[in-house]
Amino acid sequence: MRRISTSPRTPQAWLLVSQKPSLILALASLLALTRFVAAEAPPKPIEAPKARYSGPKPPWRPRRRRADSGTLVRMRVRGQGLMDLSRWPAEPASPSPVDATKLARAIRTICGWMPPKRPRRYAQWILESSREFSVDPFLIAALIYRQSLCVPNRKSDYGAGLTGINVRMHSDFVRKKRYRYWVLDSGRWARKLKPMPRYLFFPPNARRSRPSIYFAAALMSIYREQHKAGVCKAFGSVPHRHAVSHFIWGDQVKDAGAEDRVLRARRRLLLYYAGDETNQPNHGRYEKLALRFPLDAPPRKITSGLGDERADGKRRHKGLDFSSTFGEPVRAVAAGRVIIAGIDARHGPSRNMPFEKAKAVPKAQLGAGGLYVMIRHRGGLVSAYMHLSRYDVHAGQKVEQGQLLGLVGRTGMKKSSAHLHFELRVKGTHIDPTVYLGTDVFVPEATYLGRKLRWERYRLRRREAYRRWRARAAKTGQRAKKGER
Ligand SMILES: [Zn+2]
Ligand SMILES: [Zn+2]
Repeated sequence: MRRISTSPRTPQAWLLVSQKPSLILALASLLALTRFVAAEAPPKPIEAPKARYSGPKPPWRPRRRRADSGTLVRMRVRGQGLMDLSRWPAEPASPSPVDATKLARAIRTICGWMPPKRPRRYAQWILESSREFSVDPFLIAALIYRQSLCVPNRKSDYGAGLTGINVRMHSDFVRKKRYRYWVLDSGRWARKLKPMPRYLFFPPNARRSRPSIYFAAALMSIYREQHKAGVCKAFGSVPHRHAVSHFIWGDQVKDAGAEDRVLRARRRLLLYYAGDETNQPNHGRYEKLALRFPLDAPPRKITSGLGDERADGKRRHKGLDFSSTFGEPVRAVAAGRVIIAGIDARHGPSRNMPFEKAKAVPKAQLGAGGLYVMIRHRGGLVSAYMHLSRYDVHAGQKVEQGQLLGLVGRTGMKKSSAHLHFELRVKGTHIDPTVYLGTDVFVPEATYLGRKLRWERYRLRRREAYRRWRARAAKTGQRAKKGER
């Protein structure tokens, strides 16, 4: 009553209002609604702008794109690229010359388990091909990891072999072991030929590891020239940073998210090549405690932020979801003691247990956090790492900063793809990790997709509030009618 009495100014008006309770209710709910609507209207979503082009038509038709007939599927455009690409720091340079043994170690580290001689073989093949086509060997290694997760002769929906080459996309351009392509040179399309003498470009070869690496290097050198000279614009690509986008998409790049994942893998490879992955520099700080990033080779995009709604608004997201790949190492942000290494039980409190036991727990008994690790640090700070596919620590254990805790997974999840859920708490209160981890993260709204999702959530909430208001107004209207009778 008190809250409403502030709006009518004179006592007469107050009398009028107090005699009509329905009016009060309607006024109050309208007030609440307008306040709700005005308070948090996020910016409207936008699409990634396509490049405009008015020069001569490219001489090849149709454009190169992933064949999507048969078993091959169309790539989804989700808008996962950053809206402001200049926010990405410059990618680190590759060492020169590249040491084959260290490259093999980097490949072995990023790929996980491999037969003992395989990483060395891959490293040699990568080096020989990258030399032939003067392409960055770390980029080829990153493609092997991203396109096939290092599984040889794999046939995925998007392409064949280690580097996931979509043969149908290119077969019209290859004749007699030469690749025909065009670049825009002072207003005209100039034809060029790239010899690929070593292997015949056809599916059985694309599935074999050595040719697959060879073709990836050749295609990257072709795309590098075309990316610089006209192709991005002529086919209306969205803004992207690197020629590797074309390796994934073909002539028209529709989303910059894929190149971000390849370049992220490349940064990790460079870190593993240097051999000091546990000593990644600290970017963040909580009071006096220096914090490193829980994953290797930041920056990372956040796919869901602190406070986002979960379960139709019944609960809130208590941490950050970092864009990451299944099986990536998760490391302690600072030294401390493990307080939980176990499962987030669906019913009842979290339970400590060794990993061997935790992995046998049925899915139905797991809470949303899945398998997780929690560490107490100096100064009362607690960090938590969830949805792990495995963990290598036990409760009570002391850990160093950067020590491997476990691997990224998707335990406890229903729909999302694998990612790390990361939390920071102080005295039981969740704090926003973006503030304390330094500048190595991009909030969800920095991408086209994040902005769209936020807008959709807002629209949904607004519609729901309006529906509630209508229902209440209808009820009070009925009551008023009854009173008249
Ligand atoms: Zn391009
Ligand atoms: Zn999460």
